[in-house]
Amino acid sequence: MEKAFEAAISAQRKNLGMEFPAVIGYGKKIGSVDHIDSINPSNTSEHLHRFGAFPLAALDEMVDLSTKAQKSWAAQSWEDRITVVRRAASIIRTRRMELSAAVCLEAGKNRIESFGDVDESADLLDYYADQVVAAGGHFRPLKRLLPNEETGSFLRPYGVFAVISPFNFPAALAAGMSGAAILGGNSVILKPSEETPWTGELLLGVMRDSGLPEGVFQICQGRGQSIGAALVSHHGIAGVAFTGSVKTGMEIHRTCGSGRWIKPCLMELGGKNGAIIMPSANLDEAAEGCVKSAFGLTGQKCSALSRIMVHADIRKEFTTKLLERAATWKVAEASAADCGLGPVINAAGVARNDRAIALASTNGGKIIYRHENCADRLPLPAGHYVMPTFAELDPNHDLMQQELFLPFAGLTEVRSLDQALAILNQTDFGLTAGIFSRDDRDITRFFDEAEAGVLYANRKTGATTGAWPGVQSFCGWKASGASGKGGCGPYYVEQFMREQSRTRMR
Ligand code: NAD
Repeated sequence: MEKAFEAAISAQRKNLGMEFPAVIGYGKKIGSVDHIDSINPSNTSEHLHRFGAFPLAALDEMVDLSTKAQKSWAAQSWEDRITVVRRAASIIRTRRMELSAAVCLEAGKNRIESFGDVDESADLLDYYADQVVAAGGHFRPLKRLLPNEETGSFLRPYGVFAVISPFNFPAALAAGMSGAAILGGNSVILKPSEETPWTGELLLGVMRDSGLPEGVFQICQGRGQSIGAALVSHHGIAGVAFTGSVKTGMEIHRTCGSGRWIKPCLMELGGKNGAIIMPSANLDEAAEGCVKSAFGLTGQKCSALSRIMVHADIRKEFTTKLLERAATWKVAEASAADCGLGPVINAAGVARNDRAIALASTNGGKIIYRHENCADRLPLPAGHYVMPTFAELDPNHDLMQQELFLPFAGLTEVRSLDQALAILNQTDFGLTAGIFSRDDRDITRFFDEAEAGVLYANRKTGATTGAWPGVQSFCGWKASGASGKGGCGPYYVEQFMREQSRTRMR
């Protein structure tokens, strides 16, 4: 597998420098005055490809095509729709190496993370297809008041969905949100992150080759503030599915409520996730789970661990183990076989890290770990590298409240589970949380009282990270989401549909 991955990276490198024009449907070229470049964050001198930014003036035509295509797509049987989406999943599996190599080069994800992103895309499409099968196409007979009355509830599509995806899971989140909308009988216009246009383009190829009718899935490349905002507010867009930061999400949510009626708006947003370490915990497992969740994907996961509440009785022993494990993680170019942490996505991430490091020593804070083995000490190419960091911080410190999206976690000492739970919940966010304890009563209280949608107990493979389709629903509470139902979970597809009851007199 390692050899196949390396061959895929080399193959991609032989064909760099392509220019992809903006298109309507699968191939009607549209001239662009602007473009976005895909750059390798591991080595910013490596220019991957150039993409025409979709012009605002052509948006009406794109939405028109989506509107027409949606009508015939919705008229197909749900069984036929499933067949096409399952074919797309199977094409993703066939192109696993090619797609993973692109994700690695473009998003700076290491090998395992790149495979994970691509594998999850395929599994999401299949899992959401299973949901439609289980729901029997989303029809339920209802009760009747008269003997000659036939009644039933149908879930019907909304129309054209705008899907806006972030950079950190450029394959899985774009495919998952789009696939669910399409399975629900909608058409989709995807606006991928401007940091990861290439993965978006490859997804368009997958959808086209799956036999999905032209116009059911389209893609407009460009910046969020221009084409993203124009798409969301377009009168032909019936609903929006967004995954990204709280700030952008709230802006989009306001737009969705400011037209002549309120558009459905599915939001999966940021996190400030915490783990509690109790005295009875297996401290080796706790340390391993915490480092994995704090450093995995260079801290750029919505579920990344950024706050650790450790009991005073074991603080010293736990911290020693935590820092020992931290030191085993290597910072390297993302495509390298031994890469633990790749780069962050862009220069803004590096600047945010510089600010966090400077702030960490204020208000009683103290840095207790910075990766020695990194940045200018290693022969790294010029990329967006940062040094993973642990700091002791007061729970009210700014760095314990804001989402950083960096390999940076704060530790706070606690004296009881009560105090740990209070600190855990003392944040606007509510995405994931973890606990390490051998006492079942601790775990039960944690499950009952943690204000977050994704909870893990004693998970050394990731204290707060690592959700899989059909295994962990991924629902953000509080500022971390809006719909109360998560991606990867059993209620996801129906959120892309609206209910219609039908009463027929015989
Ligand atoms: P972001 O909010 O900066 O951008 C996300 C997308 O929104 C991009 O495609 C961007 O171009 C677009 N956008 C920006 N402004 C827009 C506007 N005004 N109108 C329409 N579109 C606009 O987020 P990011 O930096 O790409 O991703 C990181 C964020 O995503 C973090 O906050 C992370 O926690 C969150 N995230 C959440 C989940 C989840 O499942 N809850 C998963 C992954 C990432």
